[in-house]
Amino acid sequence: MNKIGLISIFSSLIILGGCDQNTEEKDQSPDNTKVVQSLAEQEAGKTDDSESISESLAESNYPTDIPTGRLPETISPTQYNIELKVDPNQPTFSGKVTINLSLEEVTSHIWLHGKDITAKSVTLTPHGKQPLNGTYEEVDKTGVVKLSFEQPITADSAKLVIEYEAPFNEALEGLYRVKDGELNYAFTQFEATAARLAFPSFDEPAFKVPYSYTMTVRNEHRAFTSTPAMSETDLGNGWKKIVFAKSKPLPTYLVAFAVGDFDVVEWQDIPASDVRNFSIPLRGIATKGKGHRLTYALKNTKDILNGLEQYFQIPYPYKKLDIVAVPDFNAGAMENAGLITYREQLLLFDSTISLGQKRAYMNVHAHELAHQWFGNLVTPVWWDDIWLNEAFATWMAHVSNNKVYPKQKFRQALLERSLNVMGSDSLITARQIRQPIESNHDIQSAFDGITYSKGGGVLSMLEAFLGPENFRAGIQHYMKKFEFGNATAQDFITAIGEKSPHIPLETIQDAFNSFLEQPGIPLLSVELSCEADKNAQVAIEQSRYLPIGSKGSTKQTWKVPACFKYAIDGNQHQMCKVLEGKNQTIELSEEGCPTFVMPNANGAGYYRFSMQNGGWQSLLDNKEQLSTEEMMSLNNSLQGAINAGKMTFSDLVDIAPQIIASDSEAIAMGPSKLFSFVYGKVAESDQQKAKLASVNRNLYGPKLTELGLETQKDDSVNTIRLRTGLIEFLSNEGEDKAVRQYLTDMAIAYTGYKNDGNIHPEKADSNVIGTALTVAVEDLGVPFAKHLKMLLDSSNDGTVRGRLLGGLGSVEDPIYATELRELILSEELRDNEIYSIMMGQLSSDELQQPMWEWFKTNIDGVKSRIPPFGQNRLPVVGRYFCSNDMKQDFKSFFKPIVEELAGAPRPYNQSIESIELCVAQVKFHKDNVEQYLNQ
Ligand SMILES: [Zn+2]
Repeated sequence: MNKIGLISIFSSLIILGGCDQNTEEKDQSPDNTKVVQSLAEQEAGKTDDSESISESLAESNYPTDIPTGRLPETISPTQYNIELKVDPNQPTFSGKVTINLSLEEVTSHIWLHGKDITAKSVTLTPHGKQPLNGTYEEVDKTGVVKLSFEQPITADSAKLVIEYEAPFNEALEGLYRVKDGELNYAFTQFEATAARLAFPSFDEPAFKVPYSYTMTVRNEHRAFTSTPAMSETDLGNGWKKIVFAKSKPLPTYLVAFAVGDFDVVEWQDIPASDVRNFSIPLRGIATKGKGHRLTYALKNTKDILNGLEQYFQIPYPYKKLDIVAVPDFNAGAMENAGLITYREQLLLFDSTISLGQKRAYMNVHAHELAHQWFGNLVTPVWWDDIWLNEAFATWMAHVSNNKVYPKQKFRQALLERSLNVMGSDSLITARQIRQPIESNHDIQSAFDGITYSKGGGVLSMLEAFLGPENFRAGIQHYMKKFEFGNATAQDFITAIGEKSPHIPLETIQDAFNSFLEQPGIPLLSVELSCEADKNAQVAIEQSRYLPIGSKGSTKQTWKVPACFKYAIDGNQHQMCKVLEGKNQTIELSEEGCPTFVMPNANGAGYYRFSMQNGGWQSLLDNKEQLSTEEMMSLNNSLQGAINAGKMTFSDLVDIAPQIIASDSEAIAMGPSKLFSFVYGKVAESDQQKAKLASVNRNLYGPKLTELGLETQKDDSVNTIRLRTGLIEFLSNEGEDKAVRQYLTDMAIAYTGYKNDGNIHPEKADSNVIGTALTVAVEDLGVPFAKHLKMLLDSSNDGTVRGRLLGGLGSVEDPIYATELRELILSEELRDNEIYSIMMGQLSSDELQQPMWEWFKTNIDGVKSRIPPFGQNRLPVVGRYFCSNDMKQDFKSFFKPIVEELAGAPRPYNQSIESIELCVAQVKFHKDNVEQYLNQ
């Protein structure tokens, strides 16, 4: 079976972030003097009410059309009090929400949000007046609610009380239930627009106000929210009432709740520090029986949090920190203020924790904690600036962890992410980082790799260009200026510019905006020329990078903050400049002709380059003088040249050994991506694959022989990562029998196959056990796969289940594969587990077609397992296809339904473009590959 470049398409979409609060109340806006005046007259004069009210109503600007975009700002909350009664054993919950309102318009209706909620009563008490009863009507499927009152509301503030009942959500958003073992639990996921499923609200990030919470739960349950509990009262009937402290100002999407019979691990407080004069109570929360596995996550929280505080020089903004392991969760994690939720695989570990698990924990945990500042302390005004949350949390997590865990080299991991996202960013259907939100679709699609990884890369570029300390000062300035409030991209850029006075603000704004507000990757074509008696010149031509088959135009330019590194007479120099326009020639300030010019110093720039006149070879000849980051950038640009048809497969095979020779995993494994593509997509027959496998073994096999298959006690992070990468590549694209046997033996021992039938974690190398299970399923066939299924049925451990499902995803037998497909809709799988089998079968030559047919037939069932917020992922299945027939089939299936799926139109168009590009790539490289293999 053939594994095409498994660029974990689905998982790339899973990390979210979140946030909270602020204390400044919004002032009444002064611009509605007419209404205020008429109100004043009314109050004072007790004139003919009905006449003056209807006059002021006529003058009111409060909209009468349904606001399907943003709510009007003239009626806004100033505080919430949420009372919930929650028993996860029941299908519904009930609540009472009290919202203090500020009103700047006279109106007899109010727009807000609520979805699938049954209101029992609506009462509005204008300040100093009699209560009015209202009606509640959900008037738009996105959850817009109209409250109507018999009389106009003529006050500038009011108290709105809505009592209601609602079902627990069936997918993983709003307030939803999860069964783990025999027990039921309730969790929440509100970002982006799902708080409205749990309580009627002004469900937009700009409405950032304090919350009070009261929860009534069964005596045997515990309840958690963003603030500490203040009191608990036994109600005497099996229920108890818990009152929580008032929160800092929060947008709705950062509010969170958890209810159930949890294991709660009270950890040591995070002590006060030079940045923070109070200690932070820290707890870990997991479902029953899993609490003891929170130790690693809790133990390391202090260092990660302190690292962030050191960078910001601003204390963690909340009173306590709870981290929650959720058995079924749509995203990777969510940064709810003070109550951060995670997929349990990211928090629960035992002594066999792998390096990959540690790094995922460190990275995601730092990301969510970074959000407590980026997003929570300072919140975007609207979803078009969600990159202010996500790009920053992505960037910040790596920058901070790079200091906390220097051996892990998280800076390189950050670069790797921004290089990897260039594949998506070379599509002409790519989003821009700051994409206008024109419909609900755009909110859903804003959480993509462009926002996270390209955003992180662009921040790194500006950081390098302005200088890390200036950039840091700018961030601190921004945080302090807007703390507990909201801000926009331009607010941010201005704050950064104010702390980099050596560069004109306009230059900084232009550079930022040119990357934030247009899609794509700049390509710098660089040519060095040296003439006698003159300083050397570097000619740079700028265009948009496009791969073979692209229908886009290359005529696009950026204001690129670029740094070049070069060496003259053995001395290294660097030159930085904001490049503008299509062509530019730069004269170097030193005399002499450089031995090489590296157009992306330290790999910090978000761009690709191409070289003329032997430029590539001069870089490779001087690779000892290039940093790891520069070699990574070189790898990526070479890959770009091959994908653009500027170089061939045989060129790649010629160049690759010079790169693979590196001891660094980040460098050496670079070319393997292209070899995987050729093996998976270009090779047509088993015979061709076998020949390519042999090429792959020749290139990479000796490295693994040198390292050995087994992890050694004192192995470095780099060595473990390199070995893991080599084992994955050689077992699949290298068809290496010895490696496959090693993995199969490990899988047998791990699963107790034909032995005691129990899992033995200590018998596996946790770094490669996932690969081992897929290889063993391929080589041992159905009996072993059925053994994995049996183990799956008896496990409720997210990590173990994930590995077993990965193995089941590689089943090749068509009959058993058919049976496994049915699991996707069965209760035996958690909602967040439905992808492994789907992805595995879609990436198989033989099973792709039947999986796709099944998918089309069962689309409603699949949809029912994915929250609306995740349904934009559905068209991503098209990324596995690489033929015109499949493109047509994909289009005719999705076209009629794509508008119904929130956020799906863009991924739909991207999948179509990806298929077209794949077809073009294969067509371009096929002959050359064939020729090479027939040599
Ligand atoms: Zn995030």
